Amino acid sequence: SRQFTRPLNDLANQFNMILSAVAGAERVFQIIDEKEEKEDESEAAAITGMKGKIEFKDVHFSYESGQETLNHINFTAEPGETVALVGPTGAGKTTIISLLSRFYDVNSGEILVDGRSIKQITRTSLRSQMGVVLQDSTMFHTTIRENIRYGRLKASDEEVEHAAKAAHAHEFIINLTQGYDTVLDSDGKGVSHGQRQLLSIARAMLADPALLILDEATSSIDTVTEMKINDALSKLMKKRTSFVIAHRLNTIRSADIIIVLRQGEIVEKGSHEQLLKKGGFYAELVAAQRAENEATM
Ligand code: ADP
Repeated sequence: SRQFTRPLNDLANQFNMILSAVAGAERVFQIIDEKEEKEDESEAAAITGMKGKIEFKDVHFSYESGQETLNHINFTAEPGETVALVGPTGAGKTTIISLLSRFYDVNSGEILVDGRSIKQITRTSLRSQMGVVLQDSTMFHTTIRENIRYGRLKASDEEVEHAAKAAHAHEFIINLTQGYDTVLDSDGKGVSHGQRQLLSIARAMLADPALLILDEATSSIDTVTEMKINDALSKLMKKRTSFVIAHRLNTIRSADIIIVLRQGEIVEKGSHEQLLKKGGFYAELVAAQRAENEATM
């Protein structure tokens, strides 16, 4: 499933690249797979103070002609709401995020951000208000302090620590011999997978984006760290529009809108209760996951 997370990695890198541009030349990033970008439309302007209302209006999209990847995608997310994207691999979850980040443009239909067509917003300003937390978030070969600070380069040490505390990362950091001065490898060696997630959550908290993209971890993490991650994430998601590529029932259940995708189409849309009552695809999915959980217990 590596290739399916690529666009999200691109987005995370773009996000960091924008920040580096803000900071000037003193920081050098390795940008993997940097895409050649189209120019912004001439009428495009920066978006400031994004509220985070997102609308997809009859969106159609295909990577290659002749084969539709997304069909008739319609939904509205109000500012602060959490949208869970659910469905089997290849259903189109990542593609929705890629369109929202404007790595691609729709074939027809429209995406609106705060009521404004996404084409009238510069890509840089759009992405500067998006935060991304991935299963495998990028760490840079520098100290933990600087790794968190990439969320907002002008943040003070105090603000970095504050974010680390909010993300439940502070405790493990101060238990390292070098504390916040611990230097990480670019592949994050030296801290566990779960701890790396806490660091990327701290980074996102510092960035304070209007729009959050979250690719929920599927890999197993010890229970204590997982509880910390869940708590930190729910804090992070509060008061900002969040799109979660969700795998776990607990996350999905608490979303304001669940969008169930299959082969590029929305087959069901609604809250957990609404969809359970409906007794359709989602209800089956829930029953299947319950059975699976019981079987492994
Ligand atoms: P999901 O995130 O739900 O697993 P994706 O949005 O990644 O699904 O993929 C939807 C469909 O689009 C799949 O059939 C996938 O093979 C195809 N696809 C994804 N990315 C590309 C790409 N860059 N070029 C061509 N086809 C792609």
